Amino acid sequence: MIELIGNTPMVRLAGPSAAAGCEIFGKCEFVNPGASVKDRAAWWIIRDAEQRGELQPGGTVVEGTAGNTGIGIALVANARGYKTIIVMPDNQSQEKMDTLRALGAQLVLVPPTKFADPNHFVHTSRRLAEETPGAVWANQFDNIANRRAHIESTAPEIWAQMEGRLDGFTCAVGTGGTLAGTGMGLKAEDENIRVALTDPYGAALYNYYACGELKAEGSSVAEGIGQGRITANLEGAPVDTQFRISDEEGLAWVARLLREEGLCLGLSSGINVAGAVELGKQLAAERGPEARVATILCDTGFRYLSTLYNAQWLEAKGLPVFDWLR
Ligand code: PMP
Repeated sequence: MIELIGNTPMVRLAGPSAAAGCEIFGKCEFVNPGASVKDRAAWWIIRDAEQRGELQPGGTVVEGTAGNTGIGIALVANARGYKTIIVMPDNQSQEKMDTLRALGAQLVLVPPTKFADPNHFVHTSRRLAEETPGAVWANQFDNIANRRAHIESTAPEIWAQMEGRLDGFTCAVGTGGTLAGTGMGLKAEDENIRVALTDPYGAALYNYYACGELKAEGSSVAEGIGQGRITANLEGAPVDTQFRISDEEGLAWVARLLREEGLCLGLSSGINVAGAVELGKQLAAERGPEARVATILCDTGFRYLSTLYNAQWLEAKGLPVFDWLR
């Protein structure tokens, strides 16, 4: 399974390219064994703990996460002979709990609370790792083995697949591993590659990179993205410019990518593509229609059948319902 992580295909996106007036490409991270970009971080974090001697055969990996990171960790841990404990808030979807249990993870549910509360799921996961013999805490937000995954795998793959011709890269931030790591790796190949943050509403980073102030505005239903602080993975990220994308814009691209190009994706991918179109417009104006922009197609839409692809859920959130779901 480890050998199946990464080396994902890159696809030219016809609709986004037409909208931007240049060439937009998506890295198909939903092809990873756990169906998301987070398999890379899971493997790099676990391998790093092995190499530092912290993780011994039969050991346990503990993480606080509700989503793709837990799935990636559970699969990699199975393949390497470790146990997995995932701590998550008890208000998460039944699908997520069922998925993690199905993969063999032990789930610890805690009441949702604010980050400052010592019982927050992230702090609970750290304590549990400290108290469990032979356990390590994955700590995806501040463990920079996460962004090393993208410096050492995602960026060189994109550079090779683009045959050494790339003008821009953009994606959204959850931990920041993908943006910072891929940005750093690509800049090392060509410093003229423009690296852009694509932020959802409800996150504080757009304002941070635009004017130096960590300030959130609005909200988003996108899962896996939206950060309020500079994580260790984000420190020194080479961000040249930034865009802010609404859920409606992201959903419009999710709908078009599915109906026009046959790609069934999650909302963070739609938001990334909307950001790539903005960056593409900028680069097309400066460098012409040959300009090339890459972004990340983070996870599969099959993970969101009861949310993004469900008319009642979309209506309850006040979001437009895809016309084929009516
Ligand atoms: N999209 C999805 C669906 C994710 O699960 C994540 C991971 N949190 C991201 C995007 C962002 O990736 P990163 O943590 O590397 O910033």
